[in-house]
Amino acid sequence: MHIDTPTVLIALLIGYSMLVLDLGLARRSLLAQQPALRDWMLGSVLILAGLVAIPLRLWIPVVLGVLLTNVLLTAGLAFYTRAIWRFVRGSELPGALWLFTPVGLGLLTLAWLAGWPHHRLVSISSTCMALQTVPMVVVLLRDGWRAETSLRTVGITLSMCGLALGVRAVHAELDPGNYASLDQPGTVQGLMLLAGFVSSVGAGFGFVLACLERTAQQMEHLAARDGLTGCFNRTVTQTMLGHMLERCRRDGQPIALVLFDLDHFKLVNDRHGHLVGDQVLRQFAESVRGRIRASDVFGRMGGEEFCLGLPMTDRLGAQQVVETVRSSVESMALVGREGAALRITVSAGVAVADLRQPHLDSAELTIESLYGQADDQLYRAKLGGRNQAMVA
Ligand code: GH3
Ligand code: MG
Ligand code: MG
Repeated sequence: MHIDTPTVLIALLIGYSMLVLDLGLARRSLLAQQPALRDWMLGSVLILAGLVAIPLRLWIPVVLGVLLTNVLLTAGLAFYTRAIWRFVRGSELPGALWLFTPVGLGLLTLAWLAGWPHHRLVSISSTCMALQTVPMVVVLLRDGWRAETSLRTVGITLSMCGLALGVRAVHAELDPGNYASLDQPGTVQGLMLLAGFVSSVGAGFGFVLACLERTAQQMEHLAARDGLTGCFNRTVTQTMLGHMLERCRRDGQPIALVLFDLDHFKLVNDRHGHLVGDQVLRQFAESVRGRIRASDVFGRMGGEEFCLGLPMTDRLGAQQVVETVRSSVESMALVGREGAALRITVSAGVAVADLRQPHLDSAELTIESLYGQADDQLYRAKLGGRNQAMVA
């Protein structure tokens, strides 16, 4: 097999140009909220510039061309690493991982000053870039494997890229005659260049897909949640409660539905302002979430009214949950306007349907009927003096 290096270079330039175009378009549209994509875009532009710099060796001293290409390629890979760090770990890239570019540049300069042959420069720069893929692959395999599925493509393609560059470095040492200049035909040299950079183009497309996946998840989350408290919104709560009832009906299990309404909440707003009122709502929701099971459904129905669906929970179980919430709200230490202490209480209405009872006509039972019963009990709790729960 004969692989012609200029042809490989043209293929890589086309591949990288398409990736840069794709990243640019993706950034303009849906993915504007994924900052890591900007880093990948910057990295790809630098690598593209590095590939463009390779043929410059025909016109400028070879060593200058090698140094320029190496700086651009390693800087590009550094931005890829930063993108992965930000996206997968949500943190900034550790300073040491920016050092590949200056270290690579320093080593190449020293090698040139020492009069080392061209193949040694190839093996130094390829080793530097192969090593640069290691932290990315480690983070992707360790932290990214269970995140967005497309990150697996990024991990696999970057491992291939690192492997190809590593093979190129070793091969340059074993068969130096093949690396006297970049434009000389050589199967391994051409193949490894091609494999190394084509797989990094693949990693770029994988990364765009991972950003899309994350954006879709974020939108799904936003569409299902109430922005202030992070609880499910009214529509999603009703749908989930419907599913919960069907499951309990099929399994012959009890189900409980609780309505919570904060007491005299209007007074909280009037005395302490709406910002404090909002904070109270958030803390109430947080407190309830910390006391329920993953299978329970907790939603904000509007204003200061919340609904809690408890599957496989009987009257006694529901009473226990509601009492825990009530007493924890009562003892919540809140801070009002000008640092004043603020106490709040909550009232609750509970409806329980024990679908284990043969006499219960379960076909008649709907979420609306349970909701109505719980609402009646909430009314009783308010009339009875608030800060209490009533059970149907
Ligand atoms: P009760 O004990 O009878 O329930 O009295 P209440 O004052 O809690 O009841 P009411 O329904 O009269 O007042 C509810 C208040 O909740 C009125 C409204 O200003 C406030 N509210 C509704 N949504 C929000 C919100 O998102 N943020 C804030 N800060 N207040 C809200
Ligand atoms: Mg209310
Ligand atoms: Mg209220």
